[in-house]
Amino acid sequence: MPHRESRKASRKLHRDTLAVHAGRSVDPSTGAVTPPIHTSTTFERAPDGGYPQGHVYSRQSNPGRTSLESCLAQLEQTDEALAFASGSAATMAVFQLLKPGDHVLVTEDAYHGTRHQLENLFQHWQVEHDRVDTTDTDAVARSIRSNTRMLWIESPSNPLLRVSDLARLADLGRTQNLITVCDNTLATPVFQNPLIHGIDLVLHSTTKYLGGHSDLLGGAVMHGAEFEDAERLRDIQAAGGAVPSAFDCWLLLRSISSLGVRVRAQAASAHEIAIRLGEHPAVEDVFHPLHPDHRDHERAQVYLPGGTGLISFTVRGDERAAMATVAETRLFTRATSLGGVESLIEHRASIEGQGTKTPSNLIRLSIGLEHVDDLWADLEQALDAVST
Ligand SMILES: *Cc1c(COP(=O)(O)O)cnc(C)c1O
Repeated sequence: MPHRESRKASRKLHRDTLAVHAGRSVDPSTGAVTPPIHTSTTFERAPDGGYPQGHVYSRQSNPGRTSLESCLAQLEQTDEALAFASGSAATMAVFQLLKPGDHVLVTEDAYHGTRHQLENLFQHWQVEHDRVDTTDTDAVARSIRSNTRMLWIESPSNPLLRVSDLARLADLGRTQNLITVCDNTLATPVFQNPLIHGIDLVLHSTTKYLGGHSDLLGGAVMHGAEFEDAERLRDIQAAGGAVPSAFDCWLLLRSISSLGVRVRAQAASAHEIAIRLGEHPAVEDVFHPLHPDHRDHERAQVYLPGGTGLISFTVRGDERAAMATVAETRLFTRATSLGGVESLIEHRASIEGQGTKTPSNLIRLSIGLEHVDDLWADLEQALDAVST
């Protein structure tokens, strides 16, 4: 029987189709349409000592993880993806490409866990960093030092959803010999593909939109064939061992099948809610890339025309007003994280902790798959209750 995947790969398929089929094949031993979960940690050697199926030990590779990585790579329009046990493990792996004395530039309002690693873990290894506004390419150029080795871009950023000019930053990185990285978690591969803009590495916390159901932790790094440190990165993954379990690989691949329909619906609702929030008298500012008042609205038309399911907004008043608004919601669940089918609401500064530049009256929403009118009714009654 011909291998179905290789037949499929012969023609360029749309991303929604790849999300369902890439990396999968009907199980030849049983005819099962959905993939099995291979929990085996070890694989039999041939009499000559070889490994005819290519797998040796599951930390190095596992059939389910190989399927997942093949699918993840194709979603970002490339051939190479590495799956990790969490987005943070993937982030660690990328920083582990650096050596003592190296310097990193990182998006000012990047994910607080990324900043935490640089400030608390890698400082210890003499890796230095500076936070920079990556939406200002000239400011990035001015911040480059002789020992700068990596430019870490989060776009859109978190929680202000600032959009960086990936193509210009990639050019800058190439002329300055930097490894450029884009944390693409908030955009998803459906709405933005940093590699096609010339970025070297794409990172995802697959815990978020790719997993999509708030029930698994995972991370991934994707890169092109020309990435120089490819072997080293694979070694950090396999020898470092921060790999996802067989069950998590299976669950993630299953969730990716519905990625396109989920994130488009979430982004459409988020866009609608952002507009309505902007018209509410209790709201000071709305941060959503497709909102006409957003600072990077024009750039978002180029890089992120599909938007995102995430919204931040500030309420009139102080931290207490923001906390009270969050407390008044009924349908939204008060919890951190994003990208699940259920909508979440969060007072952001208090989870980010010390050193955060997030305004104390800022609330972040992760829009799920509930009906947009129900979500808006819940927000409206909470805003009305606090402001009157
Ligand atoms: C959650 C998140 C991470 C970290 O991922 P984990 O899976 O929680 O370790 C990194 N970047 C962004 C943008 C995130 O939202």
